[in-house]
This record gives sequence, C-alpha cells and structure tokens, in this order.
Amino acid sequence: MTAPSFMDMALEAAKKAGQAGEVPIGCVIVRDGEVIATAGNRTLTDRDPTAHAEILALRAAAQALGSERLTGCDLYVTLEPCTMCAAAISFARIRRLYYGASDPKGGAVESGVRFLAAPTCHHRPEVYPSVGESRAAALLRDFFKTRR
Ligand SMILES: [Zn+2]
Repeated sequence: MTAPSFMDMALEAAKKAGQAGEVPIGCVIVRDGEVIATAGNRTLTDRDPTAHAEILALRAAAQALGSERLTGCDLYVTLEPCTMCAAAISFARIRRLYYGASDPKGGAVESGVRFLAAPTCHHRPEVYPSVGESRAAALLRDFFKTRR
C-alpha cells in the first residue's frame, strides 16, 4: 500500500473518533507494509488527557511487537503531533512520521516548540507533512463547525 492509503486508514479512525464525540484525529502504525496498530483520540471516553491517537497507537504497537522500541515502524497521523506525542514518537524510535494537517495552535513538529528539531531530542524520524492534508483539515473543520 502507498502512503495515502495508510493515511486513508488514519482518516477512517479519525472519523470514528469524531462519531464518538472525540476530536477527530486518527493514527496508524505500519511496519513492512503491515498495519501494527490503529487508534483514534479517546481523551473524553477514557477520561485520560494523554489518550491522544498517537499515544494509544504507540502503546498498542509496542504491545503487539513486544518491544518499547518500534524500530522500522512508520506512523501516520491526521494532524501534526502535539509536544507530548512528538516526544513519544521520538522515544519509540519511529522511522518515518507522516501527518496530514498542520496545527499552528497545538502542534510541535513544524509549529510551537518544534520538538523533533530540539537539541534535547535524541531520535528524529524522517518527517513527511501534508499527506492527505485537505481531507484531514476538512474533517476537523466540519467537527468544530457542528460543535458551535
Ligand atoms: Zn498529542
């Protein structure tokens, strides 16, 4: 499968999260062309401020592989990761990070603290922004529109 197809799966997970009343963000972790973990945001459902899609997917992938290091794994997420998730992605040794929409308000890759570029960041994945960006952005826009 190509990069956009995995992003399609992340978008599906985002939509499901949105249907459950969560902010619609979805994440997929892939190794050797195989999906290891899929997750959507669950902060409200789990009453857990750390239950972002990326964190849940990283945990599930680490469980599935029996290792805290996700060597050779690529992560697809519909929105630019926040500071917490960017750090977790680095700790997990993710190989490539693909994300959809940029998040100037809460992101930490190209926005805000740019964690992955900080000297205190010891593993930097290759970063591919704007993958399926317009669809990810539209999903979030529609979500916040209906909430107002
Ligand atoms: Zn996050």
